[in-house]
Amino acid sequence: MYDYLIKGGTVVDGTGTAPFVGDVAIADGKIAAVGASIEGEAKEVIDATGHFVTPGWVDVHTHYDGQVAWDDVIDPSSSNGVTTAIMGNCGVGFAPVPKGGEKELIELMEGVEDIPGTALYEGMPWGTWETFPEYIEYLDSRKYSLDIGAQIAHGAIRNYVMEERGRANEDATAQDIEHMSQIIEEAIKAGAVGVTTSRTVGHRSINGEAVPGTFAADDELEAFADAIKRAGKGVFEIIPSSSVGDMAALGGEPRSTLEEVELMAKMSKESGCPITFTLIQVFEKPELWREVLALVAEHNKNGAQLRPQVCSRPIGMITGLTGYHLFQRRESYLKIADLPLEERMAEMRKPEVKAQILADEDIPHPQAGSMENVVVAFKQALALMFKLESPIDYEPSPEKSFMALAAAEGRDPEEYMYDFLLEDDGKSFGILLGANYLAGDYEVIREMLTDDNTVVGLSDAGAHVSLIVDGAMPTYQMTHWVRDRSRGEKLPIEFIVNKQTLNNANLYGLTDRGSLEVGKRADMNIIDMDSLQTGRPEAHYDLPAGGRRIMQPVQGYKATFVHGVQTRKDDQDTGARPGRVARAA
Ligand SMILES: [Zn+2]
Repeated sequence: MYDYLIKGGTVVDGTGTAPFVGDVAIADGKIAAVGASIEGEAKEVIDATGHFVTPGWVDVHTHYDGQVAWDDVIDPSSSNGVTTAIMGNCGVGFAPVPKGGEKELIELMEGVEDIPGTALYEGMPWGTWETFPEYIEYLDSRKYSLDIGAQIAHGAIRNYVMEERGRANEDATAQDIEHMSQIIEEAIKAGAVGVTTSRTVGHRSINGEAVPGTFAADDELEAFADAIKRAGKGVFEIIPSSSVGDMAALGGEPRSTLEEVELMAKMSKESGCPITFTLIQVFEKPELWREVLALVAEHNKNGAQLRPQVCSRPIGMITGLTGYHLFQRRESYLKIADLPLEERMAEMRKPEVKAQILADEDIPHPQAGSMENVVVAFKQALALMFKLESPIDYEPSPEKSFMALAAAEGRDPEEYMYDFLLEDDGKSFGILLGANYLAGDYEVIREMLTDDNTVVGLSDAGAHVSLIVDGAMPTYQMTHWVRDRSRGEKLPIEFIVNKQTLNNANLYGLTDRGSLEVGKRADMNIIDMDSLQTGRPEAHYDLPAGGRRIMQPVQGYKATFVHGVQTRKDDQDTGARPGRVARAA
């Protein structure tokens, strides 16, 4: 007797082979049978005719480290068909933590990932764990709508072992390194699926200090790779120096991207550990990513396992009156910033207030690492900012930018933006398509995605909660790349599905999932491609302490299964919580 028999769907099994019409049977949490036609009794038969049946998505780049403490739904990922989310990325996380020492880690997370500090203070049971194994024990006591993979973050390790010296980014002593690598080995043995570090000066605590570990010397990183080797499994996730640009405004980066690739190749070859690292097109060197991919291919032929992590759309920073916007640091705006939206808009509509705000200079936020200071980017990038109108066009042509639209009407672009923010009762959103969109189309992204060595990630789900809504990327790449793209080649569904499932699961050693093959975990989506859509962002005030997050609604998931249990039905949470801590084999 099967638990579920899913009949007549178009099966895209995650291995990359062509779709076929057929049935999938689930029993005891696993795929029990797959084939053109399966006979047999089932407790529930689901007719999937006309729908796609895929493995659940594996999102390797999330920041749910705080959210897993106060929430068990884990949105936006669960509503986007994600069945495994890996957190602890980018060198920031919450274990190990000295007793009473959460402040430093919260300030890091607040600065790097822009998750409100109040939510992290109030929403997490501080004191429940100190070591990483204790943290995993805590996670093991919780139940979620999807599986969570935990990674141990360099920032937390350095803070724990080296304290003030670690936070000040002093060089680690041989003893420090020994202690830190022991902690890593123990963490992986207890269930961590990876170790993560940030090496860009662009990632700073809320107070503006570079993340502990940013300037770590080669021997520190090599010792970490060696700890992964001793533990026998685990991935090293790295945000390389220079990977998000030259960072000249912050004093520049210590290393070039190509130097970083050489270091990572050496570490991977010597330790045998896979290394995944952020790869985006950077403003100052728009062709550099090609050199990186070529260098990676060469090193991988010679025994390295480098897996550049790329994204399926430009990393988008959204802007609106219920989020961040160009005018939020102007002196006259700050006077009305705390008013409720309607009253604030009434003020903003007054011609004299508008004229004053437009004329004002920005007053930098007193906390140098605050995301409030994103106004600098907004000010420089009006030619890369676009309206988010329904249905959203994420590959807009350059003449649709705020700069171009304003020019066409002979208006000042800032003034144009000001009026736009007041449209739609203040709920309109624009987007800055920064990384990967310098050419004004998706050819760069297509080349990155189709490179054999890359993995798809960088959604940052759970982070940048008022600025980036790329947690919807796994859905988006199905609508845009598979179905809707009109400005260039599309990508085959079996390719996109493989990239988001088996390819990612394999990187993290999660060999029990990622494909619809007999014996694998029944993590699965049933998708109605005709209705699949990501909607316009909207602000929610549902974080602990009333904190804000912006969510992008999604529709088209007829069903999601995690470990053979149905967690979503017709885009609604079923209330089932089969999700646990994901461990590598
Ligand atoms: Zn990240």
